[in-house]
Amino acid sequence: MQITVDNLDRLDFEKGGGLLPAVVQDATSGAVLMVGWMNPDALRETLYRAYVTRASELGANAALDNGPIISETLSMRAEEATLLGYPSFADVSLVPKMAESPARVIEFLRDLAARAKPSAQRDMAELNAFASDKLGIKTLMSWDLAYVSERLKEARYAFSDNEVKQYFQLPRVLEGLFGLIQRLFDVQIQAEQAQVWHPDVRFYRIERAGELIGQFYLDMYARPSKRPGAWMDDARGRKRLETGLQTPVAYLTCNVQAPIGDKPALLSHDDVITLFHEFGHGLHHMLTRIDELGVSGISGVEWDAVELPSQFMENFCWEWDIVESMTAHVDTQAPLPRALFDKMLAAKNFQSGLQTLRQIEFSLFDMLVHSEHDPAQDFMPLLQRVRDEVAVMRPPAFNRMAHTFSHIFAGGYAAGYYSYKWAEVLSADAYAAFEETAAADGTPSVETGRLYRQAILEAGGSRPALESFKAFRGREPSIDALLRHQGMV
Ligand SMILES: [Zn+2]
Repeated sequence: MQITVDNLDRLDFEKGGGLLPAVVQDATSGAVLMVGWMNPDALRETLYRAYVTRASELGANAALDNGPIISETLSMRAEEATLLGYPSFADVSLVPKMAESPARVIEFLRDLAARAKPSAQRDMAELNAFASDKLGIKTLMSWDLAYVSERLKEARYAFSDNEVKQYFQLPRVLEGLFGLIQRLFDVQIQAEQAQVWHPDVRFYRIERAGELIGQFYLDMYARPSKRPGAWMDDARGRKRLETGLQTPVAYLTCNVQAPIGDKPALLSHDDVITLFHEFGHGLHHMLTRIDELGVSGISGVEWDAVELPSQFMENFCWEWDIVESMTAHVDTQAPLPRALFDKMLAAKNFQSGLQTLRQIEFSLFDMLVHSEHDPAQDFMPLLQRVRDEVAVMRPPAFNRMAHTFSHIFAGGYAAGYYSYKWAEVLSADAYAAFEETAAADGTPSVETGRLYRQAILEAGGSRPALESFKAFRGREPSIDALLRHQGMV
């Protein structure tokens, strides 16, 4: 189904009063299903219904129903597990992962759901009040959620990304990032000459007390023909050779806007977070002390623990002292104003309770459908049970989220969707060690940096990630830090 809406700006959308001229079309056949004026509330419902029923038996084109394909996929996965001698496909999926068993993942998700629920209920109450007071929507329906959330976010935490961007000059951000890494992990980073594939690419070496530890290429700017996104990749890993030691080399790639005129490149706060994230992967790869190629650096690290060092680094982008020292307005050289930073922080945690529950609903369904579910049975009742258990606002029965859940049915995340939250818990808890030991002025502890480096970064894939984590924290991971960082306590 396709809906065309014209002349949005001429209409009084804000008060929910005006009507919208709309044409509703079947996207496959092009047939016009409806032409007329629609109430915005009705339009939201129409759009929502079209969106959440696509690729299902309730969608506009029943021939595109994914239901039978999903059932077949689940049957074949169950068969694969039986052939391999495992109780369920979830058990097969967890073999190369850090989580010990489906039961442990399910317990983790239920625990997190219970802890996030009060916060999600507060988020919901806030949405209801705003919808009723400011938008004239008395009963909030599923199709109103995205709209009302967006309006509430605008009303409370609006700030301009472009304004923020004026404060993050790339050279200064790199100076801040390198300074942090040098202090915490007892290394020196220096620019070095090397052959590169584009004049914008830089090359650096990392040393400790004169000893070469690793090197990296840094390719920061977007340009035509370059793949979009950001990533870290290994050029080579650390390895003991007969002739000596092969030190690791990494590629660190981002896609920020190149400098314009004589001004330095400016980064959005999201760009800065991405840069720190990729450096987390890079440090995991380059600071390793393991000499076996198969388990040095990022090699051989369990699938659901790989994002620990990267998400860990993101936390520093939310520390006022670090952000303040990294920022200087491109015209005035003034640091980022504290009030603006506080708004950014509030926007980051906006409705984190509801968002967490949504992720848990997906994760729990994924884990249960691959472990406890009988693939000969319809999977929709299971999805409904998960929603009954987790959701604060139950989606309507016609919602066919599972039919477009491509992460688990067409991607590599089958019985693995939980890993997003899992890695967040690990990285938040690891970061909490730095919060607990920081100096009064917020300076991170060098001693904690050394412990983290030795337990997590240097060990690479040479031992189970849980062992590395326990070597650092002295205990199992706890979800408290994540709840606190996302404002849910
Ligand atoms: Zn990553």
